[in-house]
Amino acid sequence: MMKFRLKLTLILTVLIACSMLTAGIFMARLLAQSHMNALQNNMTRELKIIEVTGDWSLNGPESALIETYTAKSKRIKEFTSATLTFIRADGKVLGDSDQDPAMMDNQLQTPEIQQARTEGYGFKTRYSDTLNENMLYAAIPIMNGKEITSYLRLAIGLEQVDAAVRQLWYFLILGLLLLLLIAAYVSYRIAKSITRPMEQITRVAKQITDMNYKARVNTKSNDEIGQLGHAINVMADSLQLQMNHIQENESRLTGVLENMVSGVMMIDREERIVLLNPSAEEILGFSSQELLGKKYKEAKQQFEFTKLIEESIEGREHIRDEMIFYFPTERILEINLNPISQVGEEWSGVLIVLHDITAVRRLERMRSEFVANVSHELKTPIAAVKGFAETLLAGALNDKETAKSFLQIIFDESERLNRLIGDILELSKIESKRIPLHFSPVHMAEFIEKSLNMMSTEAKKKGIVLSAEVDEDVYLEADEDRLRQIFINLLSNGISYTQDGGKVKVRVEQISMNMDGEYERLRIVVSDTGIGIPKKDLPRIFERFYRVDKARSRISGGTGLGLSIVKHLVELHKGTIRVESEVGMGTKFIIDLPVIH
Ligand code: ADP
Repeated sequence: MMKFRLKLTLILTVLIACSMLTAGIFMARLLAQSHMNALQNNMTRELKIIEVTGDWSLNGPESALIETYTAKSKRIKEFTSATLTFIRADGKVLGDSDQDPAMMDNQLQTPEIQQARTEGYGFKTRYSDTLNENMLYAAIPIMNGKEITSYLRLAIGLEQVDAAVRQLWYFLILGLLLLLLIAAYVSYRIAKSITRPMEQITRVAKQITDMNYKARVNTKSNDEIGQLGHAINVMADSLQLQMNHIQENESRLTGVLENMVSGVMMIDREERIVLLNPSAEEILGFSSQELLGKKYKEAKQQFEFTKLIEESIEGREHIRDEMIFYFPTERILEINLNPISQVGEEWSGVLIVLHDITAVRRLERMRSEFVANVSHELKTPIAAVKGFAETLLAGALNDKETAKSFLQIIFDESERLNRLIGDILELSKIESKRIPLHFSPVHMAEFIEKSLNMMSTEAKKKGIVLSAEVDEDVYLEADEDRLRQIFINLLSNGISYTQDGGKVKVRVEQISMNMDGEYERLRIVVSDTGIGIPKKDLPRIFERFYRVDKARSRISGGTGLGLSIVKHLVELHKGTIRVESEVGMGTKFIIDLPVIH
């Protein structure tokens, strides 16, 4: 742009300078010419005056004439300060103010005389050999009637004229130089005013290229440059709009990718990893920084996974597979590999979607294990019922005593079967969340007393003392039936797993006071002085069918589902349950429940 401005300045300056030079030369010529004309007019006038004021007849001998006219010429020169020459019609010099006429050549052929002869006056500027100077000659003929008798000629040195013209040239050149400077300055200003908007446009265009879409050209003029600026602004507007669109889309897409549960990974046609969302980072145990830009083969990945990607790239087809990953944690992943193609390209990479299906698979396993467990649990009492019934049919019926004890066993086992099926149904109902809870305020002191009463017969049988410790004004918002189920289960466990003469106790306390001085949670502790649970079993006792001692559980008539049901019910009330126990000392179940729902 700077170069353009310089160029423009130069062109303008040269143009102005050329036109000024032409005008100057023309003027100088004109001046010189008019100077010459004035000189010539003066000389003609002087010649005429000399002619009319003198006697220029040719009477007398030649030598006398020469003498007279030479003297006369010299006298006249004193006034005119110009060389005067008197020449006879044949060209012979008869008088000269500066030289001896005898020494002078015939002057008839000199251009001024020739011109004077034909036109009535003659002028010539020429170099004089005798005077060694540029001279202006002016000549007029002296007539006698129609006939030329002689010529009068004046000559002045052009030294003066030349000096004046030279001075004129000096001034002209000086003025020209000055004008040139002014012209250069004016040109520069003009060039600047033309190039400045263009520079601005260029600057803005560069800024837009550098992704500064807010840059605008500041145009006011309506000319072509103004229109160009306006066009650039319109372009920047639409660019900005489009960029906003793109950014919006991008952030939406990023948002989706960032918040997706599934892992997404993309491999481009150069087999480089180009995208990895946070879920994929988490699943694969590598950060984006570690993997992005790397070839998938060079990334440290499970061998089978790398193989699968290779297969998908080679086959260019969709592959779905399940794989167990051992790093960073063990999990089962469903892997979907999709070949992707972009506009105009047949194949541009692979999109890999990773789903963590560990939980799904675990659930499936648990379900089938549950079915197996249930079948197993059902089998034992049924086998017993069947066995004893068979024995009775085979003849034991006759022995009254044995028959009675067998029938009792059959009754107990069917009772157990009934309980088992009841518990299983209950558990499945709770687990599938099919039972809605009916919350109502429960007066704890009253409620616990009732629950203890329900268990008192059983406790009495074993000589176990049941006790409660609960403040009179404690209320809890809960589903009363479900809460009773929790208590009955825990109390009956306490009674079952405590030796005769032991103690089972319920304590209720208010915990976690809020800023208004109200208690937000209730802690219920059911403790016994029973056999306790070994440390290694503690983490598992809430599992379905888990029993510490199968035989003992059988004797107590337990199903192995009680604690499992309790835990689910507590969780339905948004509470927590944990257990503390020491073998031989006793067990404590601690339940924390929110007071209000
Ligand atoms: P069960 O019907 O066999 O009692 P639960 O789910 O109620 O099944 O309990 C699971 C197991 O936890 C029991 O078999 C028992 O071994 C142990 N257990 C539960 N409560 C107590 C307790 N109060 N004291 C000692 N062991 C207990």
